[in-house]
Amino acid sequence: MHTLLLPADKSDTAAIAAKILKEGGLVAIPTETVYGLGADGLNNDAVAKIFLAKGRPQDNPLILHVAETAEIERFCHHIPENAYRLAEEFWPGPLTMVLPARDIVPKRTTAGLSTVAVRCPASDITRQIIRLAGVPIAAPSANLSGKPSTTTAQHVLHDHDGKIPAIVDGGPCSVGVESTIVDLTEERPRLLRPGGVTPEQLIAVLGDLVVDKAVTAQIDKDAVVKAPGMKDRHYAPDCQVVIIAGSRDSAARYIHRHYTPKDRVLCFEEELPLYAGCSPLSYGSEADPMSLSAGLFSALRILDDPGIGTVFARCPVGGGVAYAVQNRLKKAAAFHIVDAEAEQ
Ligand code: AMP
Ligand code: MG
Repeated sequence: MHTLLLPADKSDTAAIAAKILKEGGLVAIPTETVYGLGADGLNNDAVAKIFLAKGRPQDNPLILHVAETAEIERFCHHIPENAYRLAEEFWPGPLTMVLPARDIVPKRTTAGLSTVAVRCPASDITRQIIRLAGVPIAAPSANLSGKPSTTTAQHVLHDHDGKIPAIVDGGPCSVGVESTIVDLTEERPRLLRPGGVTPEQLIAVLGDLVVDKAVTAQIDKDAVVKAPGMKDRHYAPDCQVVIIAGSRDSAARYIHRHYTPKDRVLCFEEELPLYAGCSPLSYGSEADPMSLSAGLFSALRILDDPGIGTVFARCPVGGGVAYAVQNRLKKAAAFHIVDAEAEQ
């Protein structure tokens, strides 16, 4: 199969992509979070192709992407007032809500759950494709399962060239980490995954937020979790990642003491001079957490090389978008964190 690379700004791109989707094919779509691997979310057989292309476990549900808030009423029931408040504030944008699913949503999309995750993405071209296709797009991140997420069309091409009909190229993703997921099916809203919409922003609207344990800790493989995808070793390159916590100087001392020529250093732009001679890779500026979220997965994909020994990674601290970066990096490191201060 030849994979079409469709530029977002070409006039016939939306029509071509919508036609493929309506015929049950897969199209990779740009969003502000990461590139998604999309199918008609109401077509069971089309959705099955996503799982096959990604090698995704069947128990890992997909997000249903809509073009307008009103559409969720077709796919969800018992929608609480909080859902409308969040949509008003953050849609279109990097926020996914988990709500009770109507029967129209196929079991493959929800992985058999009674709930469905819905999001209205900010990308104009993607919303245009949804409108033209007349169906919601079910899409997980477009990476092969277990690998770092795709934040450029080239990343998608790398993972799926010749295996999917088309990729819509909307340029690099501005947020760069997957959407914030909030579960609204219980009495208290629950954060299942941090992302571009921050916990602080959610609390400002909801007045309350429980942080699920899968956000902050490694979850046992057999554990029952609210967001199935969160327990897998996720977002990870094909080498060992260790987060080196602590001040700039103590981390540099620790890394220089343990570094071997097979290793790499993943650090902030501000720290590059400290690691001259250790082939450091910067993923953004510590002073600008959005640059870190936008750069993280590209960097992890560069480091996805079995020839690399250990990646010593520096992780931002604090809330806001940095909280989402911490979560993805900790998952890539399987929560392997060394406190450089304690090792002096
Ligand atoms: P991805 O876009 O690849 O990160 O995959 C979507 C993720 O959304 C899944 O891995 C789950 O963590 C989450 N998700 C999707 N649907 C649900 C749902 N009904 N309940 C809880 N989490 C969900
Ligand atoms: Mg994913």
